[in-house]
Amino acid sequence: MTPAPLRCPTCRAPFRAALCGRCGADLAPLIAIATAAHARRERARLALAAGDAAEAQRLVLEARQLHDTGRGRALEAIAAVALGQRDESLRLLRMS
Ligand SMILES: [Zn+2]
Repeated sequence: MTPAPLRCPTCRAPFRAALCGRCGADLAPLIAIATAAHARRERARLALAAGDAAEAQRLVLEARQLHDTGRGRALEAIAAVALGQRDESLRLLRMS
């Protein structure tokens, strides 16, 4: 699963720098939010590996509130399976 590139909210150009190469918009706040979401997804992966599915689910929910991604939904589905939440996991996998 390849993540969708982040896009400038002003001109929709994909970006990787703090200033949009097309329109010059300041994208640093968006990058900070995406980075915070990524850090939570990484912590959720570690929690799953340590057998703490409840903590993983909490972290990935926080991540999705910041930046909703297919990877985040898949990770949340894994946590839901680990917690025996079959219907929730199926719902999340349909969204991914
Ligand atoms: Zn732009």
